[in-house]
Amino acid sequence: MTTLTAAPAAFAATAPAPATVSTTRPAVRVLTGDRPTGRLHLGHYFGTLDNRVRLQARGADLFVVIADYQVLTDRDVADDLPGHVEELLLDYLAVGIDPERATIFTHSAIPALNQLLLPFLSLVSVGELRRNPTVKDEISHSRQASVSGLMFTYPVHQAADILFCKADVVPVGQDQLPHLEVTRTVARRFNNRYTEPGSPLFPEPEALLSAAPLLLGTDGAKMSKSRGNAIALAADADETARLLAGARTDIDRNITYDPQGRPEVSSLVLLAALCLDRDPVEVAHEIGSAGAAALKRLVTEAVNGFLAPIRARRAELARDRGYLRAVLRAGNERAGAVAEATLDEVRTAMNSRY
Ligand code: ATP
Ligand code: MG
Repeated sequence: MTTLTAAPAAFAATAPAPATVSTTRPAVRVLTGDRPTGRLHLGHYFGTLDNRVRLQARGADLFVVIADYQVLTDRDVADDLPGHVEELLLDYLAVGIDPERATIFTHSAIPALNQLLLPFLSLVSVGELRRNPTVKDEISHSRQASVSGLMFTYPVHQAADILFCKADVVPVGQDQLPHLEVTRTVARRFNNRYTEPGSPLFPEPEALLSAAPLLLGTDGAKMSKSRGNAIALAADADETARLLAGARTDIDRNITYDPQGRPEVSSLVLLAALCLDRDPVEVAHEIGSAGAAALKRLVTEAVNGFLAPIRARRAELARDRGYLRAVLRAGNERAGAVAEATLDEVRTAMNSRY
């Protein structure tokens, strides 16, 4: 699979934002999203949010899916969905996703998107789904005794999320690469089966990884909303200090940057470096023998300094819930129109027009 670590050349020029809601394609299209399972965290910021905002600034047509059905992949009930959806919206807007230019939507509100799941499911085998390493990992962390059909078919649903708007680029963290491979397979097989050579219906989207595609949490495992190891963008300065003080390190007092050999220490060094826009090797070298306590002090200051303006903006936005609802309503409307147009093409390609 092609994985980009920098924006594609197509972004070199700054395209103007579309002035009106349109279902045609004004620019390179980007789709990405998150499950409404809690507040977004630093792993999201440096893993994908930062890339979303950069692409938006370069004129990309950005779609952000709040993947509400996918909350049910690893739990029986989706707790407080409206609350979590609102938290996500606040996080998006606070980091700079601009609803005037981007389309933020909830996939349960887009029936035509979900209808794509049926033909797409016919294009993958059970064996392929069973081998997906991210699904295996999520099953092992899930709160369910057995694996639901939704969990199992999660990557195909994600293919519908991505392909309904014919995204070219998907800024994601590393855990999403196997899912994106399924999307590329679905696109390729659909094109081969139902379209003429040379005029594919779906592009094969490319993953865009950041410099921190797998940020670790305070326990040394992938930082995740549902694993209790995350530093939320919206956490206050004291909570951040407390969480970082409890972060796992190792017994070697000399601080170095060695992601393979010393993942926990290196993740903290990387976090400080990202917040300070510095080189992690230099940051580690400067701390040197001052040890883990000095490292934690530095990371805490760096994170709190970096997040202060985002937190202030978030608090400001939280005062106007009507505005948040209007953002989502407009996003759902536009995503719905785009999905209808794609489903229409799919019906034609599949010869299912009666
Ligand atoms: P959950 O625990 O509920 O699954 P999560 O923290 O894993 O939540 P998701 O909503 O599943 O977050 O992921 C949204 C996006 O953020 C995906 O593109 C994912 O790759 C990226 N992402 C999540 N966690 C990290 C991380 N620790 N480092 C880098 N990217 C991440
Ligand atoms: Mg996840």
